[in-house]
Amino acid sequence: MAAYDFTAPRLYVEAQLLPGATLPLDRAQANYLLNVLRRGPTDPVLLFNGRDGEWSAEIAPTGRKSADLIVRERTRQQPERADLHYLFAPLKTARLDYMAQKAVEMGVGTLRPVLTRYTQNERLNIDRLRSNTIEAAEQCGILEIPVIQDVAKLPAALADLNPLRLLVFCDEDASVSDPILALRQVANPAAPPPLAVLVGPEGGFAPEERALILERPNTVALSLGPRILRADTAAVAVLSLVQSVLGDAR
Ligand code: SAH
Repeated sequence: MAAYDFTAPRLYVEAQLLPGATLPLDRAQANYLLNVLRRGPTDPVLLFNGRDGEWSAEIAPTGRKSADLIVRERTRQQPERADLHYLFAPLKTARLDYMAQKAVEMGVGTLRPVLTRYTQNERLNIDRLRSNTIEAAEQCGILEIPVIQDVAKLPAALADLNPLRLLVFCDEDASVSDPILALRQVANPAAPPPLAVLVGPEGGFAPEERALILERPNTVALSLGPRILRADTAAVAVLSLVQSVLGDAR
């Protein structure tokens, strides 16, 4: 695995990253760097914008609570975008915050909020979801911000998936068998297909939804063990399994 510099704070910026560019920090970023992390002019900062790779920068304070960043040099090339799709029923706020961050840390590249019959959070706050993905990206060392697709009802989200994409359906009613073997039986770890994962809401899937999901070709129902996991727990469990057997943690 590439050796990342985890000591320097990493910030996501929208601006183009070029040597010598001066980027004014917004108040929150300036407060975070200057007052929370108590970094100063000699402390390195790493920047990424999802396009130009990772760059080192220096802090140029312009006041007690304001600063610019002077971009210096590229420290890492921009890698391929993560291809793993994560379909999820929006949970209540605190658990959704957590689940969004864990999905990013576990390598998800595309998030698809899916409305199901028992979804309890119909009014998804997309801005909050995006700020959680940015915070997780800054923390975990990736150089992109996952794509957040529009909210869709379950049938549309399933229809929208590329048929070649293997859908791993977390089904607490699936027979408890060997999830690692189950994944290996539907995909070749040496040449894995594009992948998607689906986790249901706090109330689970309705029977007709389970039937609809299982009708989709190239879909595997996976049990995550004999206990009923909270959806945010299931997210980490299944993403760890999928990444370890077929993804980038092999
Ligand atoms: N239906 C459950 C609650 C669902 S838990 C109940 O009635 O209490 C929320 C989601 O997490 C589920 O829809 C499923 O996608 C996933 N999940 C939870 N436990 C699981 C398990 N043991 N195996 C597979 N998926 C699980």
